[in-house]
Amino acid sequence: MKVAKKIYIAVLLIVVVMITFTACQNKRENGTQPKDATTFLMGTVVQMRVYGSNAQEIIDNSFARLREIENEMSTNIVSSEISRINTHPGEDIKVNADTYRVIKKAVEYANLTNGKFNPAIGPLVKLWGIGTENARVPAEDEIKEALKLVNYQWIDLDDEQMTVMLEKQGMSLDLGAIAKGYAADEVRRIVKDSRVVSAYVNLGGNVLVIGEKPDGTPWKVGIQDPRHNRGNVMASIDVRDKTLVTSGNYERYFEMDGVIYHHILDPDTGYPADSGLLSCTIITTDSFDADALSTSIFILGPAKGLELLEEIDGVEAMLITKDLGIILSSGIEGEVDILNDDFQLNGM
Ligand code: ADP
Ligand code: MG
Repeated sequence: MKVAKKIYIAVLLIVVVMITFTACQNKRENGTQPKDATTFLMGTVVQMRVYGSNAQEIIDNSFARLREIENEMSTNIVSSEISRINTHPGEDIKVNADTYRVIKKAVEYANLTNGKFNPAIGPLVKLWGIGTENARVPAEDEIKEALKLVNYQWIDLDDEQMTVMLEKQGMSLDLGAIAKGYAADEVRRIVKDSRVVSAYVNLGGNVLVIGEKPDGTPWKVGIQDPRHNRGNVMASIDVRDKTLVTSGNYERYFEMDGVIYHHILDPDTGYPADSGLLSCTIITTDSFDADALSTSIFILGPAKGLELLEEIDGVEAMLITKDLGIILSSGIEGEVDILNDDFQLNGM
């Protein structure tokens, strides 16, 4: 009798422990509801999904940080550091560490791409006005005039003093092709510092995922169909702890006489880049590099773009060509799900 009671209690204890354990497990996997937030910052829609009890605080801190970066680097904010540089040619302008880092990296990519990626693109961006109410096709001579000022070699940097100087009157910096990448990495830092292990950030096409989903599966990130506006996905990629940054002709553009004029400009022609690509997605660990690279390769085109890619370790790419061909770098073959039959895998 006594033994039977002991066994009964032991079995009961095991059952209780098992139920408690399963409950804890479920709570860890499914119980934490994600916090979702959307806002408009840095000229684009920003979305975040964060798992964790302090999710709201992390989102607030992240959005505040993005606002700070926008206030430093936007060409549309007259008090930004970039505006100060642009309105004071010939003067050494002292900037903070954020702005300096982004300009420095932008100039590195300008060197790497022979000026196709060009942070001195400002006069040309202004002339076309794409994405603004003043968008238009400029006259040839206007384009020629603007191009005379698009020269990244006239950006003087002083690492010691952290100053930036534009050598010629009329030059202007535009960090639109790289600032969001820097900003996405900053959000990741904030999330990781708070010990959250699972989060998703989308800064208008700059996607960054932290960890995996709480149920242990990878994040599934959609690749935009470049023939349509936002929200049409033509493929998906499974990733953990990665960034996916896309540059495409669909992000900002206007159409005139059946021609699409988009916002990524080729500094050699003065016209929207026409390299044979509809979009370029970079998959890697750091968004800062990914942003610079996606714009660079979009302008360089498939052949030169892939050449550049080979020079850099740990970077994968998915390119979509004008004839709806898909080119994948070797490291992501097999990890991409093509969801639309209009697209054909070409291989490299
Ligand atoms: P998005 O900002 O849509 O994600 P990108 O990262 O490719 O796309 O950046 C495009 C922006 O970069 C343009 O809106 C413009 O501000 C700027 N830009 C345009 N052409 C160039 C270029 N050749 N080099 C560097 N920046 C550019
Ligand atoms: Mg970019």
